[in-house]
Amino acid sequence: MNLGLNSDRLRHQMVARLKQKGITDTRVLAAMLAVPRHIFVDQGLASRAYEDAALPIGFSQTISQPWIISRMLSIVCEDRNPQKVLEIGTGCGYQAAVMAHLFPVVYSIERIKGLYDMAREHLRDLRLVSKVSLTFGDGMLGLPAYAPFDAIVIAAAGLEIPGVLLHQLSVGGRLIAPEGTSNQRLVLIERTGEASWDRSELEAVRFVPLRSGTQS
Ligand code: SAH
Repeated sequence: MNLGLNSDRLRHQMVARLKQKGITDTRVLAAMLAVPRHIFVDQGLASRAYEDAALPIGFSQTISQPWIISRMLSIVCEDRNPQKVLEIGTGCGYQAAVMAHLFPVVYSIERIKGLYDMAREHLRDLRLVSKVSLTFGDGMLGLPAYAPFDAIVIAAAGLEIPGVLLHQLSVGGRLIAPEGTSNQRLVLIERTGEASWDRSELEAVRFVPLRSGTQS
């Protein structure tokens, strides 16, 4: 299959499926339509890039399912217009590219050096590298020097959401993350005041684990 020619059509189909599954935010749908997902996976997997599936990206990690990415981004965008956003777990850089189409200022942290390098290359290929500030480091610490963030999206599941990240949210800002080990749930936390946060638990999900430290 010549993906170069077909990817536009496949991407429209992918977005049509996301709509069918309940994604209604037109900003999120437009961003999902704009980013060629096949660029982010191994050539041998490119023909599967527009399936609604997580796919391997090396280092025992995966590129997230289009559905879950659009769901998480829709939740942080609901009734608001986040300006400065942090992603934890860049992986191959796909979600960071989608976020670059949605938000004026995007930061993303990855703890595995090989994936950090890979993400940088992918973003460079798409001329998005100047729109996303990538950091190689432990995202469990957040990015205190650049806080507060209007939204924080965690792409890996920890036993619990690191408390420091809650303090890096702006008031009114939202954090979305999977929480748990074998039984994971999507958790939404909204900062309602200087020292107050609202927490709600959403649907069951499956993510790779959030780990501390870095791997070079
Ligand atoms: N956002 C990616 C998802 C990648 S999978 C996408 O677009 O598909 C989740 C990633 O989180 C993995 O690459 C993993 O290495 C990374 N990760 C896990 N714990 C982390 C931590 N503490 N800090 C930064 N990245 C982390």
